[in-house]
Amino acid sequence: MSDCLFCKIVSGEIPATIAKDDPEFVAFRDVNPQAPTHVLAIPKRHVRSLNDLDDDGLAGRLLRFAKGVAEGEGLAENGYRLVVNTNSDGGQTVWHLHVHILGGRAMAWPPG
Ligand code: AMP
Repeated sequence: MSDCLFCKIVSGEIPATIAKDDPEFVAFRDVNPQAPTHVLAIPKRHVRSLNDLDDDGLAGRLLRFAKGVAEGEGLAENGYRLVVNTNSDGGQTVWHLHVHILGGRAMAWPPG
């Protein structure tokens, strides 16, 4: 989608620090990290939000990809948190489905 920030990262029009890449998904470091490790995993195909996801297979593969990112970042043993902010109450600010992968410190609960 031409005016989507994350589509521009997928196309290389906007630079990002890539953590993991495969034909269907890419993961890159968040510009405003909220934890020592903060990576975003996205489908390369434009999906506006979790509310617009109609592909069960993609959902499963995205989670598996995110798990692989966490392993690659050395987070698997101590643990990590996956977050999918959805629409305004969820705090979504970029309208391209993304999974936050947060780790490197203990997470608080409940989230803010
Ligand atoms: P959300 O609020 O869940 O939509 O998350 C959007 C995330 O994208 C925020 O954590 C931002 O810091 C991050 N972000 C925005 N622009 C960029 C960018 N150009 N490269 C990497 N991360 C970004």
